[in-house]
Amino acid sequence: MSYLKETLYRELELKIATNVEGISFDPHIFRHLDSSNRHQEEVICLFEMAYETHVGIKFPAGFRSPHGLIFNLRWDRRSPYSFIYENASYYLAHYGEILFPVEFLERPDYYGLKTSDGTNMSTIAQYVQEGSIIISYSNECSLKDRGQDCRFCNINATKDSYGEAEGIGWKTPRQVGESVAAAYNEYQGEERRRVNLTGGFVAERREVEYYLDVADEIKVHTGLDDFNGTAVIGAPLDLSVIEKYKEAGFRTIASNIEIWDKNIFKAICPGKELQCGGWENWVKALEYEVEVFGHGKVRSNMVAGIEPKDSTLEGIEYLASKGVIGLATVWNPNPGSALEGHRSPETAWYVDLFKKIAAIHRKYGFTYDNIYDCSGATGIISDIYRIDDEIFPVRSAQVA
Ligand code: SF4
Repeated sequence: MSYLKETLYRELELKIATNVEGISFDPHIFRHLDSSNRHQEEVICLFEMAYETHVGIKFPAGFRSPHGLIFNLRWDRRSPYSFIYENASYYLAHYGEILFPVEFLERPDYYGLKTSDGTNMSTIAQYVQEGSIIISYSNECSLKDRGQDCRFCNINATKDSYGEAEGIGWKTPRQVGESVAAAYNEYQGEERRRVNLTGGFVAERREVEYYLDVADEIKVHTGLDDFNGTAVIGAPLDLSVIEKYKEAGFRTIASNIEIWDKNIFKAICPGKELQCGGWENWVKALEYEVEVFGHGKVRSNMVAGIEPKDSTLEGIEYLASKGVIGLATVWNPNPGSALEGHRSPETAWYVDLFKKIAAIHRKYGFTYDNIYDCSGATGIISDIYRIDDEIFPVRSAQVA
């Protein structure tokens, strides 16, 4: 393995470690950053990922390692990792020993723009780097009304804590169309651009009409028929609905099964079990999505660390054999979720898991374009692909 790859893999392990263990800091340490112009601020609209809530104190959206890996920022005062501010620079440290200087992410220009109805675009379309944006159409999930929300999820608690402070609510299709157009315009020089449309369950599963209206508005405002969009949906009872998303112009689709073991799925995702025809229907829906969208154009995420690793990997392999890109994220037992206070597995557990998932994806022929279109550029599996394929945007001056 080349020196550069070895260095990138070391930085990747740190990225996973800070995901698992968080980073400790005084929440006021970022007062030296220019968060209204130069540095991108975090906009909390789906899940609070920090170990504690911090209403009224803005954190940066993330930072880059010396060789260009993008880290997110999960605040945990117990972590051995910390930020240090010294001589007008920020550093990531481990037990007080400096690991490297950090470069906080640049704020997109469109974060300073408003939609035609005067809404800040930063609250509509969150930039997740490398041309990729996320739209969270809502910041709530109707499963809460039935007492069936997923046990690891804190979407409704996040809304209760931040909804008012962040001024974030339901987004209209027009707001989305205008914001995606502004972002795409700003990043038209990027090799790739994509938009991920997601949110909590909508009462009576009315999301399909909304998704189609959003797709129309994006097409009108960007002028693109294929706008490289991912529609994130719950498994529908009537599978023929899936064709409508394809006809509307979404390039990819995602239905997140979260847990592979059937019995653990029932216990951890009661709403996904009871409102969507059970685990079997999730798998059926994913297989049908491949029939409609094609091999490598369907994604399903799992929250890794709740069930045994073998079970997650069995699911990833099964799904890959059907053309579905199964991904995994680090489980952060978040504030306000039913599993708050639990502990996730250790960093080494996740490093091994992610390497095995990437190997499965290679075996079944998924390309980096498939991974990017389904999930963007900053996930761990994207990182592994970019490191191995040497398509990582490493800045030569930084390669020592
Ligand atoms: S379906 Fe589950 S994971 Fe998704 S928003 Fe609702 S509670 Fe959270």
